Order: sequence, then C-alpha cells, then structure tokens
Amino acid sequence: MSSCQIVNTLGDTGSILSMNHQYRDVADLLIPGRVPPISKAAVVVHNGEIEWAGVQSSIPIKHKGLDFIHVPVLMPGLWDCHVHYFGSPPNDSGGGYEQILGPIALFGARTVRDLERTLLASFTSVRELGGYGGEIAAGVEEGNFIGPHIYSSIAPLSITAGHGDIHRLPLRTVLDGCAHGLPFAVSDGVPECIKTVRQIIRRGAKIIKVCVSGGVVSVLDDPEDAEFSPEELKAIVEEAGRSKRALNAGVKTIEHGSYLDEECIALMKKKNAILVPTASIIEGGWASRDYFPPETYKKFHQIYSSWKGAYSLAIASGVKIALGTDQANSQEGTFNSHGSNGKEIYFAVQAGMSPLAAIEACTATAPETLGEHIAPKSGQILEGYDADLIALSQNPLNDVSVLSDPDNVTHVWKMGNCSNRLSCCGRVLLFGFLLSVIKTRVQKVPR
Ligand SMILES: [Zn+2]
Repeated sequence: MSSCQIVNTLGDTGSILSMNHQYRDVADLLIPGRVPPISKAAVVVHNGEIEWAGVQSSIPIKHKGLDFIHVPVLMPGLWDCHVHYFGSPPNDSGGGYEQILGPIALFGARTVRDLERTLLASFTSVRELGGYGGEIAAGVEEGNFIGPHIYSSIAPLSITAGHGDIHRLPLRTVLDGCAHGLPFAVSDGVPECIKTVRQIIRRGAKIIKVCVSGGVVSVLDDPEDAEFSPEELKAIVEEAGRSKRALNAGVKTIEHGSYLDEECIALMKKKNAILVPTASIIEGGWASRDYFPPETYKKFHQIYSSWKGAYSLAIASGVKIALGTDQANSQEGTFNSHGSNGKEIYFAVQAGMSPLAAIEACTATAPETLGEHIAPKSGQILEGYDADLIALSQNPLNDVSVLSDPDNVTHVWKMGNCSNRLSCCGRVLLFGFLLSVIKTRVQKVPR
C-alpha cells in the first residue's frame, strides 16, 4: 500500500495532501498513550515510524518545511486484546461453536470484511485468542486487503468437554475439524498438550491461549469448573516458554476475571499479571437475553454480578489492565459485532477508570500482553514507535463514548499509511484536491 495521506478541514491551519514518505501531523490535542496530553502538538512520520513528537513550537527546523495534516485530536492506534475472527454466518445464534464448522474459505472471506471494520473503527492492532485471523494475516501484510496487525493464538487449548470443545457434535467430528483447520485444539494429558502447543506454533501462533476454566457459550461445562489439570497446565506453560510465547516469557494475562477476589488480585499484582476484563461481551451479553439460548443466558446472568464486582475491585486495587472486547460476530448490529470495539473504553470508565487510564489500557499497556519478545513498539506516540495513529473529530477526554462511534474517527494510519474509508491512492488524491480547492468541512469520505 502506498503512503497516501488524506486531510480534513476542521482546523484553521489549512489542508494539504501529502504524497511524501515523510510528513507531519499537527493536532490541537495529542494524547500520547501514557504520558499527559499535549496541546498544539505535532508528529513527524517517516517510513512507517514516528520520527519526532512534541509541541508545535519546538519542532526541529529540518521538519518545518514538510507537508502537514491538521487534525483536532491525535492518538495512538487502539488495541483490542481479545477478539475472535470466526467468520460466523448471519444466523449465528451465539449458542455454541457449531457455526464455525463449514467451508474454511467462506469463513476466511467473511473475516476479510471484519478485519476492515476493525481497522476503520480505529483499532490498528488486535490480539486474537482463537480464530482464522492469524492464518489470513499474511493477506493483510501482503496488501491484498486492509486490517489491523494481528497477534493470534490461532487455536485455544481445551480439554475434551472443555470450553473449546463443541459439545453438541460427535467428538470425532470435532477432532477431525481440529486436525483440518478448525481454530480449536482439544488436548488431554501431558504428552498431547506438549505436542498441541508445538502444532499451534507451527500454524503461526504468537501467543498460547489455554481454556483453564469452563465457559459461557460452551454447553456442558460451568464457568467455575477447573479444566486442565495442574500437570497439564505446567507442561503447556513450559512448552510455550521454550519458544518465548507469552506465558513463560514473564507475561500472564487473565481473560474476563469473572471470579477474581482479593487473594487473586494480590497474586496478580505480585506476578505483574495483566487483566483483560472483556466488558463488551459480558455487559453486552447480559443486556441481550434474546440473543442466546436460555441455558447460555443463564450463565451470563450467573457470572454478571461477580464479574462486575471483580472488575471494580481490580481497578481500585491497581492491577494492570489491558482492554479487549471478545468480539466475534461477523453480522453487523449485534452487541459483539466487529467494528464496535471502542465501547470497551466506555465500559472501562463506567467501571471506575478515568478516561486517560482507559485510553492507556487500550494503547500503551496493550502490547505488554504479548510479552517482551513479541510486543512491538506500538501504543504510544513516541520517537521510534510504529506510526499507528488515529485522528478524531472530538476530544475523548471530555466524553469517551466518542471512541465508541467509528464516525468520529477521521483518519486511521497503520505504519504511516492512511486507511480511512479509502485505500485507493487515486481516490484519495481526488479528495485531497477537492479539499484544497473548495475548503469544505468534510470529515469522512463515503464508501
Ligand atoms: Zn474469547
């Protein structure tokens, strides 16, 4: 993809289309991710990296002649630390995983659109904890379609009858699916667990996900069930660590955290573990009774108050938190449809985080969930970091729900390349030309 850039005219500093490989953004407000916001800021981007960032008045002379793009608010591209790209069909009832059996090419095709939705919703990186995204990520890297950076676990490990088994189907069907591309890995016993970790790494996994307890959408288990034995878990962790996959590389994340109590939280702080609370799936699922079969909704109801208390306790206790949604639905308009990832920040603020802390959990902290060996220099606007940036028409520190609506996202840059609603250089050029001539107030280009 070329490094075309597009502009808006919300500011009074003019609008210039840049076709250079080096350019600068000027912003009324820069939210760098971890350090305090900066007013009247500028960022210089060169070959996909941030070359300089600071207040406009201190921009080095050598950068002053560069073409610039003015935006009201500039932030790092957001991260979703818990998604699934299953390419689920339109009639997905959310009642189990049967819907992801079928022609893998079709699920992959649906996933292409989901990846685009994710990126255009301002999420430039995702951590996929099971799904087809990891295996079609090469298509994004090759430029065949647009999408975020994908760090995938490919297939979560589960015991037979565990959260990652498909309980309504014959076991032989499930195991055959696992052996032929299904994004699940049913394994029992230490030797099988070790071999499965190696097989998943062979399929491109950057991290290893283990279903250590029962789940909500799986039919026969209970969220309070302990699934893998301590011996199996130890073997998985050690094997993952041998290839620097997250677990043994000093990183441990806990997804959902529905039953965290003070003892768990103390241990998480001691181990520097990260909580990914996935409010979107739990708040959204709890509010969507009709979406689920009654037995599945009953589980949502059971965990809801416990999870809510655990999330608030984690925030108050200062446990490290990274945000992830658990979004998995290819159908538009459902509570967990791809592209509505930004509401996780709203839920974080509702749970007790400040807007700045919630943004940090969705930017600067997020790469830490991958471990130091895999984490990219991303999630912060600092020199030497990847130029994954977003621009907004409104200030999310005044109202974080701004980030819930992709219509407020005027620009998305991934490695310095603008991905807006357009990825075609010619169309961007035309738009830029019109802007420079008629100086109209345009925030977004229609599809
Ligand atoms: Zn999940």
